[in-house]
Amino acid sequence: MSRLVVGECIVDLHPEGAESGDHGDAGSYARRPGGAPANVAVGLARLGEAPALWTRLGRDGFGDFLAATLREEGIPEAYVERDPDAPTGLAVVALDADGDRSFSLYLDGTASTRLAPGRVGDDALAAVDWLHVGGVEFAHEPSRSAVFDLLERVPDGVTVSFDPNARPSLWREFDYADTLARTLPDVDVVVASAEDLDPAGYEGAAEAVASAVVADGPHTALITRGAAGAYARSTADAPWGAGHAEHPAFDADVVDTTGAGDAFTAGAIEALDGGASLSDALRFANAVGARATTAQGAMAALPTRETVDSVLDGR
Ligand code: ADP
Repeated sequence: MSRLVVGECIVDLHPEGAESGDHGDAGSYARRPGGAPANVAVGLARLGEAPALWTRLGRDGFGDFLAATLREEGIPEAYVERDPDAPTGLAVVALDADGDRSFSLYLDGTASTRLAPGRVGDDALAAVDWLHVGGVEFAHEPSRSAVFDLLERVPDGVTVSFDPNARPSLWREFDYADTLARTLPDVDVVVASAEDLDPAGYEGAAEAVASAVVADGPHTALITRGAAGAYARSTADAPWGAGHAEHPAFDADVVDTTGAGDAFTAGAIEALDGGASLSDALRFANAVGARATTAQGAMAALPTRETVDSVLDGR
């Protein structure tokens, strides 16, 4: 196992037959696999090598559906847990009048909140070279303790990336700023939109946010900007060296931007772990993100490396 992704794998319900895009208006719902870390894991699998995914599904129909999806994508089953006592997590996706997404998350008490400390042992961690962690697991116990336990045990030499994914509605008490302050010293690479970092006090445009993040522990900050592309900054501690980079988004026939950020994250991990420069990694990640918007559902249009290469070549 060389890469490990940690966090929720849940069902996204996409409303259908709702003119307004308001999920309360829908005639029916399509179920799609989702959950930010699961999207990253499948994104990496499509790009070449399936990572391990530590996640927890209910022992129910949605859990069976997600387990089958992960299996088809080649994700090893070793850390895909099934919970007999809690249902699989759910998100309902809505689009507002401007086409912007929002999510109603049904996670409290679900299997995804019940990762427990110690499940990934020290020997397994020692075999990892890149660990990616999603922030939603910090909103509940015991998953919060489980992820902190993991981060505290990460050996030197493992690159840790983190997508904080601010979701205030999930938290009983939104101590997000404190949580990030505790997390970031153990993190090497932050991938987030500026909106996801603002509630932790990282205010301003991408450049300012990235500079503030790399001052707090991580050596690299990748800030996604939706249809405007992305911005990145790294310090001299980064294997790819100190620098900053900016890249516009690639053109895409956008159908659904759900999971674009997770696709971008998969692209960034694949490129940086493969020895790319910060600038080349940003371009590669933007190409993965752009392609991911071209079908409904977070995983549906996650591209293969060949597809990404065709975007990069302008084919
Ligand atoms: P999130 O999905 O986390 O909200 P963003 O909306 O910032 O994240 O999108 C992540 C990345 O996906 C962007 O940096 C960009 O590379 C790509 N992307 C998102 N929306 C578009 C779009 N409309 N056209 C092309 N690329 C896009």
